[in-house]
Amino acid sequence: MRVDCHTHWVQPHHFTPDAAKSWTVGDAVAPWPETTPEQFSAAMANWDVSIVFGISAPSGGVHAERGSRCVCEAGSGQFTGFMALNPSKPDALEEVEFCYRELGLKGIKLYPVLAGFEANDPHLGPFYALAERLGLPILWHMGSTPVASGRLRLSHPLLLDDVAVEFPKLKMIIAHMGHPWQRDTALIVRKNPSVFTDVSGLWFRPYQGVDALIIAQEWGITDKLLFGSDYPLWNPTDAVESLRTLQERAGIPGPVRFDDAFIDRLLERDTLGLLGLDR
Ligand SMILES: [Zn+2]
Repeated sequence: MRVDCHTHWVQPHHFTPDAAKSWTVGDAVAPWPETTPEQFSAAMANWDVSIVFGISAPSGGVHAERGSRCVCEAGSGQFTGFMALNPSKPDALEEVEFCYRELGLKGIKLYPVLAGFEANDPHLGPFYALAERLGLPILWHMGSTPVASGRLRLSHPLLLDDVAVEFPKLKMIIAHMGHPWQRDTALIVRKNPSVFTDVSGLWFRPYQGVDALIIAQEWGITDKLLFGSDYPLWNPTDAVESLRTLQERAGIPGPVRFDDAFIDRLLERDTLGLLGLDR
């Protein structure tokens, strides 16, 4: 079964004008394109299941909280929806219960660098305990942001080691291998059985992408790498092709370090089983 674990239901109108501008500066990958549920479904036609979520970080200029529901409804079984929220909000626990029980959302997307919270804040203990008890995996955006108001120290993957130690059964995915802290991410994934990482966006900076995959091989965590496209920033078909040509595009000569079999294993990974979402 092919699973894309990282797709967004986020539209241009979910951004404030200032935040939208941040995503277009320098080598940033956006502006975010407008997408309809039908376009979303068509882009994911070759995937058995795609995990879809919004981004909830009003203080960082983007807010698309429960939007993944409409894609899930349009895609009938093709999509697994995650909720997006800020866990430090006073009503966060109620929101989790509502999204899980009433909306059928099966995981949580968190974005600390834009939402402005510290992942290892002890006050968040009840939030993680609830997610662990309900079997809701958490997908974390960790690593860089083009938004100037975001505080990068909140985005360091090492913060998640504390969460993983405290909540060993809580399934977590560190998105983008926590770029540019891929090595730190590998160490966290290696020692914590319930922590995984996705490869979304690694193809965008090919030299670092190759480095990230070599790091994953050397630390023995390749079986915990999950495929994610970051759609609509990248189409999953293009993402796979970009992975297959990573070393060549990075301009690194010599024998190919990641052959097609490496990528095939990544694409065939039992992502839903690893995350406990195959029930
Ligand atoms: Zn993303």
